Amino acid sequence: MIETKVIVIGGGHAGAEAAAASARLGVPTVLITQKKETIGEMSCNPAIGGLGKGHLVREIDALDGLMAKAADASGIQFRVLNRSKGPAVRGPRVQADRALYREAVQQALFQQDNLSIMEATVEDVVCERTGAVTGVVLSSGEKVACSALVLTTGTFLRGVIHLGESKTPAGRIGDAPSIGLALTLEKFGFALSRLKTGTPPRLDGKTIAWGSLLEQKGDCPPEPMSYLTDEIQNEQRSCFITNTNESTHAIITKNLNKSPIYSGQIEGVGPRYCPSIEDKVVRFADKTEHQIFLEPEGLNTDTVYPNGISTSLPADIQEHLVRSISGLENVKIIRPGYAIEYDHVDARELKHTLETKKMAGFFMAGQITGTTGYEEAAGQGLIAGINAGLMALGKEPNFIIDRAEGYLGVMIDDLVTKEIKEPYRMFTSRAEYRLQLRADNADIRLTEKGVRIGCVSEHRKGRFEKKRSNIEKAEETLKMLKLSPSALSKLGVAVNQDGIKRSAHELLGHRDIGKERVLEIWPEVGQIPQQYLELCRNNSMYESYVRRQEADIEAYRKDENLVFPKGMDFGSLGGLSNEARQALETVKPRTLGQAARIPGITPAAAIILLRHVRAQGRRRKHLQEAS
Ligand code: FAD
Repeated sequence: MIETKVIVIGGGHAGAEAAAASARLGVPTVLITQKKETIGEMSCNPAIGGLGKGHLVREIDALDGLMAKAADASGIQFRVLNRSKGPAVRGPRVQADRALYREAVQQALFQQDNLSIMEATVEDVVCERTGAVTGVVLSSGEKVACSALVLTTGTFLRGVIHLGESKTPAGRIGDAPSIGLALTLEKFGFALSRLKTGTPPRLDGKTIAWGSLLEQKGDCPPEPMSYLTDEIQNEQRSCFITNTNESTHAIITKNLNKSPIYSGQIEGVGPRYCPSIEDKVVRFADKTEHQIFLEPEGLNTDTVYPNGISTSLPADIQEHLVRSISGLENVKIIRPGYAIEYDHVDARELKHTLETKKMAGFFMAGQITGTTGYEEAAGQGLIAGINAGLMALGKEPNFIIDRAEGYLGVMIDDLVTKEIKEPYRMFTSRAEYRLQLRADNADIRLTEKGVRIGCVSEHRKGRFEKKRSNIEKAEETLKMLKLSPSALSKLGVAVNQDGIKRSAHELLGHRDIGKERVLEIWPEVGQIPQQYLELCRNNSMYESYVRRQEADIEAYRKDENLVFPKGMDFGSLGGLSNEARQALETVKPRTLGQAARIPGITPAAAIILLRHVRAQGRRRKHLQEAS
């Protein structure tokens, strides 16, 4: 029997981050996955980041994860989305070369100390009578023992591909589904349900009439995703834009009965914010067109990903519908689109560390918990990997990011406290403290926390400390440069004539003044490197809002510090409604704050819980004093 400390099942985005994070802590880790060659595979669109998702990628990077570095190594177009809006809601996005991305992730894992990779299919999980995980059984019958296990099998649990009327068991195209593990989870009593997602047909770029389409270039120069990347080396490519039209919609409407989503063949719920083209045509019947981005899949391939027309209609109808679109009249489909239906585990079965509540040492991360997207999967993988690693080291697995620290915290808190009714994806609107949680300051928020836990390399630590000290110096300089309102007025800068001096830092973030004007007034500001000046400007822009939000954060943290006693019996609490009691029993919140965020917990129920925690605290204090 092979023995290790941490096993990670699955080499997708969650598995790669989990395995790398556990190994970075110095813990012997084995990544077991069906095929080595598909480690880091992007099952759907060849892109990383975007709105909300870009924040997650930067946070993963701040904790020394792989995703941002792999995106930089493979990026063929870089764009910051929402650039015209405030810095808090801007989303860095990278169009990646699919093969280069996979290669970058594989290279990082193959070179990672303390990590070995095993090509095998896991069929079962072994658990002690005490409820702790002790290892896994492979399809060969061989056993691998461990102290902690991270399950990241994505869309593979009882996966079924739908294409028109045909149904094929698969984890994704070309890969076998995971049946044994679904049965294992059922055996352990985990609540499973069905979700679905889909992918568009892939097109042959040689058969597209590019000249007739609107070109979309990337940012110049490209802004790297990782805090460690200085410059992007890859050749950059454009995307192109086209649209569906009334005749496309007519083809879809006429053939809706052949779509497994509408014929009743698919039961699982799909992502509302990433609908299939069939869904779009039905739900937005008044729209005469839908935008499609034609995205290159790489530098050395003609394959094109038509973002916006995910479909599971039969292959012949897919051809008919794409050929009705401008620029695609003679297009050749390389591979038809399809939908996939799979089992996921109710994430309320998990703690904030992503360990299951039922079984000690058993962690889950990625699409299996009901999310959709590479970034959401990678973020969870990172947190689960760190906690599994801590547990294997004999430490308390308590690496939690709270809602005020990062989008990773928002996502995990949402997942473990709320019922998932459709695949969960990240949006900036999900974060209540988003003015603090910018994509440009993820390292300032999180890297030190990662250093303390031991998941950040010396190289990143050194770079980060230098950057932080440079920013502090830049802010100090900017705050020292000051002029009175009358002096500013003589320079043509209109501020209230209240006698209070204004600093360069203050004016930098002022909506009507900004960087250029500040540089004219104080030319020495030009000596501050651009990237630091930009960060100082963003900090200044939000300073007053952030100060106001700090009181909310303090109140939130106070509730998070009110911890319920271990194994608390919520069912026996008087005064709660049946709905509240049931919700508390399902989620088993650890703190008052978590309880208050559970749907169905009214302010009145929260007060009952608060009184209970306080009474427990008083009792404990009394006992301590008496002993
Ligand atoms: P995956 O990337 O699926 O990786 C799972 C890993 O587990 C694989 O390496 C697999 O080999 C391994 N594995 C499974 N079972 C076993 C076993 N028993 N033993 C050993 N190894 C095992 N996301 C979006 O954001 N937008 C989209 O439009 C979108 N469309 C999608 C369309 C399709 C058809 C698919 C399949 C996925 C789509 N996704 C989409 C989701 C995206 O691909 C996933 O969110 C992401 O890949 C999940 O990462 P993961 O690590 O959880 O799982």
